[in-house]
Amino acid sequence: MSPLRIAIVGFGKIARDQHVPAIAVTEGAMLAAVADPNAALPGVPHAPTLAALLRDGPPIDAVAVCTPPQVRRAQAALALAAGKHVMLEKPPGATVGEIGPLLTAAAAARHALFATWHSRFAPAVEPARQLLAGRRITAVRITWKEDVRVWHPGQDWIWQPGGLGVFDPGINALSILTRILPQPLFVTSADLCFPANRDAPIAATLALSDAAGLPISAEFDFRQTGPQSWDIHFDTDTGPVTLSSGGAKLSVGSEQHVDAIKAEYAGLYRRFVELTATGEIDVDLAPLQLVADAFLLGRRRTVEPFEDKA
Ligand code: NAP
Repeated sequence: MSPLRIAIVGFGKIARDQHVPAIAVTEGAMLAAVADPNAALPGVPHAPTLAALLRDGPPIDAVAVCTPPQVRRAQAALALAAGKHVMLEKPPGATVGEIGPLLTAAAAARHALFATWHSRFAPAVEPARQLLAGRRITAVRITWKEDVRVWHPGQDWIWQPGGLGVFDPGINALSILTRILPQPLFVTSADLCFPANRDAPIAATLALSDAAGLPISAEFDFRQTGPQSWDIHFDTDTGPVTLSSGGAKLSVGSEQHVDAIKAEYAGLYRRFVELTATGEIDVDLAPLQLVADAFLLGRRRTVEPFEDKA
């Protein structure tokens, strides 16, 4: 079978760091083109926009939308209308509601639509899910704190409406949480810290629960310098379980069970190729819904202005 010809739309940090190498190692996939207003990859056909690529570029079968979230829906709609399979970087959109028409279009055309949650493909997440399925969880604590200047330098979109601010990384923790816990979860309170000069939060404290009252807390902070934390602690009836390093490490009590290099994007592309074979949809909006509800319920505090340069 000829390989799936994929165009990357939005050729920024994540496209370069993860999508290009992952496509290169995925059987049945090839990078056919790049669409981005300013960035290109030597040796790969380029167009400034997806519309121009669809009009003048080489033939493609699928599009990976790696733009900022605010413009993702429009790119995905264009690709689906042109008969392409679509992979969406996380978050799948800037709002929950805008995904509905994409689902309708993909189903009608029988084209794959894949809302990726890369953290769910971290190596310790599935072992943790299986281990915890056999235990009674009594409490969950998420600590997701990173230095925005290190991980998102110069990314103005992250501070604009729809850019999510600290929920851009925080939603990764919520994607793991909602993968591991099968029951519906909901936000019960949220405190959001907005820099005086920005339209998205720099820190957030959430409380979540389920129908049985499970206490879940989450601390998200973009102002972390020094050691970075991407940890989820589970208290269980038979002792503590910790998923750390963004899902790369699993500790059960004092024993280390999984400690692996993260290779999430190869897993995402294997899944995408599978979905395109049958034109399937894989879209779980639970993490985005939790973030939207945190904005709905959130108590807002104004904190000191944030400048990209310290
Ligand atoms: P980025 O470095 O700012 O890259 C985004 C790219 O998209 C830029 O080159 C931008 O061009 C381009 N773009 C904007 N609008 C476009 C359009 N309409 N058509 C084509 N290209 C367009 O951002 P990023 O860090 O790669 O993040 C992109 C997405 O990936 C975000 O949703 C983020 O949450 C997700 N993600 C990022 C990371 C990470 O570590 N960075 C990890 C996982 C997931 P201009 O700059 O010229 O506007």
